[in-house]
Amino acid sequence: MTVIIISTPAYAKLNVCATLPWIGSLASELGKDKVNIKVLVKPSQDPHFIEAKPSMILAARDADILMYNGLDLEIGYLPLLFESSRNPRIQPGQPGNFDCSRFVNVIEKQPTADRSMGDVHPLGNPHYHYSPSNILRVARGMAQELSNIDPVNGSFYRTNLASFEERLRNRQIQWGNRSLKGKRYVSYHKLFEYMANEFGFQLVGYVEPKPGIPPSAGHIERLIESMKKIRPDGILVTPSYGLDEAQALSKKTGVRVIVIPQDVGSVPGTNDWFSFMDTVLSSLQ
Ligand SMILES: [Zn+2]
Repeated sequence: MTVIIISTPAYAKLNVCATLPWIGSLASELGKDKVNIKVLVKPSQDPHFIEAKPSMILAARDADILMYNGLDLEIGYLPLLFESSRNPRIQPGQPGNFDCSRFVNVIEKQPTADRSMGDVHPLGNPHYHYSPSNILRVARGMAQELSNIDPVNGSFYRTNLASFEERLRNRQIQWGNRSLKGKRYVSYHKLFEYMANEFGFQLVGYVEPKPGIPPSAGHIERLIESMKKIRPDGILVTPSYGLDEAQALSKKTGVRVIVIPQDVGSVPGTNDWFSFMDTVLSSLQ
């Protein structure tokens, strides 16, 4: 008698492809050992200026679900990944196409969404990863989507979501004790508007006249004049976008530069979204 043993993996892990480090961090909190996560963009790279590479297309090809920021932040490479990966699971409209921004209360939506004026964010401000209230919404949507795609582990994802929510509640209490109310900053790019709303500080000027548009000499002159009057608490900038310009402005005004991490893992001690936000909020004080 011949016994034929057919071996199939009990449960293959779900292949998650995330564009940005913070998205990978959330997927890891919710999926833990049931998911393989590939993150396409390095923490040191500025998310506005990414180009598609063959390794990214390969990662997208294997993905059961592709998770992305949305609001056109990935417009420079995502359409190409959809097309070149030829992966039917991740195409727009499929369950494996997960646009995190669907769950966000988007601010700064433009009434006429076009790029003709040079604004790189015509669909609204895409930098909601600094917003605890929106990250909570995204985590809930993500846990639901993971359960839809992988129903066998549905209760696992829901349990992990519950502990994520618990951690966030506790952190919110600590973060609420930080005194950012009344602080005023100038920012290079419009990155911190969600935070300003939630933590009660003010953005009183921008080095870029519009997101993605480099400043003219006249714009900088006017900004310097207003900064001399207002005396803001700092010039906010990320390591990879506008740092030199912010330092030049600091020399002319005496206002200090505050470098804020742009994503999870971009500076030491920010290995997950919680520690990332801890560092962001400490930098602002
Ligand atoms: Zn931006």
